[in-house]
Amino acid sequence: MAQTGGHFDVIGGAGYWMEMVKCQDACPVHTDACGYVNAIAEGRDEDAYRMARATNPFASICGRVCGAPCEANCRRGSLDSPVSIRALKRFATDRFGPENGDFKSYREGCNQQMLPQNRGDYEPVAVVGAGVAGLTVAHDLAQVGYKVTVFEAYSAPGGMLTAGVPVFRLPRDLVMAEINAILSLGIELKCNQRLGRDFTIESLRAQGFKAVFLGVGLPKGRKLDLPGANLSGVYDGMDFLRAFNEGNPLPVGKRIIVIGGGNVAYDVARSAVRPLELLGHTDTMADIERGESVAYDVARSAMRMSGDKEVHVVCLEKRSEMPADEIEVTEGAEEGLVLHNSRGPREIVGRDGKVAGLRTVECSAVFDANGRFNPSFNEANVEEIPADTIIFSIGQSSDLSFLQPGDGVESNRGLIKVDPETYQTSAPDVFACGDIAHGPRLFINAIRSAQIAARSMHDFLRGTRSEETVRSSWSPAVYTMREGWDQLRRHHPPVVDAAERASSLQVIEDTYPADVARAQASRCLRCNVNTVFDTAMCLACTGCVDICPENLIRLTGMAEVCRTSEGRDWVASMLAVAPADLDKYDKAQLDSLGGVMMKDETTCIRCGLCAARCPSHAITMQRFDFHRMCVTFPGLNPKLKHGSNALEVRSEEGNGQVKQKSHAQERP
Ligand SMILES: Cc1cc2nc3c(=O)[nH]c(=O)nc-3n(C[C@H](O)[C@H](O)[C@H](O)COP(=O)(O)OP(=O)(O)OC[C@H]3O[C@@H](n4cnc5c(N)ncnc54)[C@H](O)[C@@H]3O)c2cc1C
Repeated sequence: MAQTGGHFDVIGGAGYWMEMVKCQDACPVHTDACGYVNAIAEGRDEDAYRMARATNPFASICGRVCGAPCEANCRRGSLDSPVSIRALKRFATDRFGPENGDFKSYREGCNQQMLPQNRGDYEPVAVVGAGVAGLTVAHDLAQVGYKVTVFEAYSAPGGMLTAGVPVFRLPRDLVMAEINAILSLGIELKCNQRLGRDFTIESLRAQGFKAVFLGVGLPKGRKLDLPGANLSGVYDGMDFLRAFNEGNPLPVGKRIIVIGGGNVAYDVARSAVRPLELLGHTDTMADIERGESVAYDVARSAMRMSGDKEVHVVCLEKRSEMPADEIEVTEGAEEGLVLHNSRGPREIVGRDGKVAGLRTVECSAVFDANGRFNPSFNEANVEEIPADTIIFSIGQSSDLSFLQPGDGVESNRGLIKVDPETYQTSAPDVFACGDIAHGPRLFINAIRSAQIAARSMHDFLRGTRSEETVRSSWSPAVYTMREGWDQLRRHHPPVVDAAERASSLQVIEDTYPADVARAQASRCLRCNVNTVFDTAMCLACTGCVDICPENLIRLTGMAEVCRTSEGRDWVASMLAVAPADLDKYDKAQLDSLGGVMMKDETTCIRCGLCAARCPSHAITMQRFDFHRMCVTFPGLNPKLKHGSNALEVRSEEGNGQVKQKSHAQERP
């Protein structure tokens, strides 16, 4: 059986095989989802945790609330429905994550190879904002040897983890546990420190911070400039959620309208439907640090009260166009939300200075002929929805009031301008990423951009050039598929009953019981296993064609291969002729040149029957593993601007000695 040992590739070299593992390829931090799902299937839960944690400092949190691009790309989704990768991650993190009160697996699970290898006792760096972006930068730089201080405007760290995501989706003790694991790497956190109010970028420089990271996110909500938007009872969704999550809910009436059709609008609406008047206290970070949990008791009292509140969601989109995840819309409906699709808000109707309703018109199309967001309306179709509270949830915006001309940091359309490859701002010693640099995305995108930003900061400070490479290896695939795995349906993890959850702050989703987790994990199609054909050994017996249960292997002539330009180029190269010369051959002549085995990778279930059937062992099932790593070279990174605001650039030479150099010398 052909086998190679581990070897290094530039990313492009292993590209085809990496793209075959679609979950890992789609994950911005390239978590080995296929690896941990199969480890769970085999009962290796600690291995699973380590794989989930390796490239992600927020594995436990992502196990609860990741937007899960891995699932959107899971190959099983093209057969029936994707493997429940996110919920399976939670199954592993529940057992070994820092929420168990022990940081050992968290520390040991970190893939140190992803971090720059030249470690030392390095200079102080400042991180502004304790959201996932800021804390990921802190996590990476602290491990390399920097003295990291994180400055956070609010009284608790977490950014949207604590201010945005409602407590019933993400328990705050879990958030605090994972943040504490990061802080335990030797990071200093200073809360109630707002950039622009308590300090400036210039003052950080003056205090001796040699580089500054801005991970300040998009903290503000947006409102539409409608008549009546200033009436009492009109809020923006971010103010509403922050207050809700801090345990001081804003006063609302009995008929609430949430304007917006995205996931954040559903966070707002599903929070609003809960009994705010009784839930005057959610578990704040201070409660959690004191080890007290009062929210659950309060929620139980709330359940005994009958709610007469109505929450309506009004959005431009048709039901099928809504940006909110299907599960949000479904669970929201179960909790009693009333959805009004294809309605555009026109006016907030007031009475005695207070909200009395929302006047809407029909939205006939959200997108124009070019697919751009450009809503058109049927003004004749008017509907007024009675309400006493209106909450806008139509997007987030930045607060860059802290920027001063002397900072040298430029912004564009409310975002900080960065080099998208390095996340360096226009001021060489200032870096920024996360939502404030790339706009609103997912936690996992902010984590990924922060990993790149941390590496760039290291290169900037050390005068080095770091690159990401891939270490890949092939080995014989040894596995068995669980009986009936191809028939198993996806099961959502258990959730609290709709009536109970709508009247409490209970965390909605529970974890899989172990037997269900293993069964769900066994649905994985093992995209990291490949059917490798050795053409020299093939007898063209077509045994593999006959046995394939999915009918996806075919023996075909060269004429068919030549139908695609890719196939044509391949045949031409095999025959050592120019592609245009193939026009001289007719079908029979092309087919007489030989045949090829064609396999449709999209629906292969890796059952291995073709390999077992092959009489000449021309087909083998081989496992492809790859891990990203950071390789740091001496010499300046040409993608970075060096030399700035009174900063001295250090250059670490290959011999490990650190020399001071002037900026003029360093400029590429
Ligand atoms: C309501 C809501 C729910 C979401 N749910 C999900 C989800 O379920 N899954 C998912 O993948 N993504 C979700 N997202 C998206 C996700 O929250 C963001 O992509 C992510 O938080 C971006 O991280 P960040 O670190 O850039 O910003 P943030 O998380 O916003 O962190 C920024 C931090 O900077 C601090 N800060 C701001 N200004 C200053 C200042 N001047 N001085 C000091 N500190 C400052 C803030 O207080 C905050 O702590 C959600 C977003 C929202 C709004």
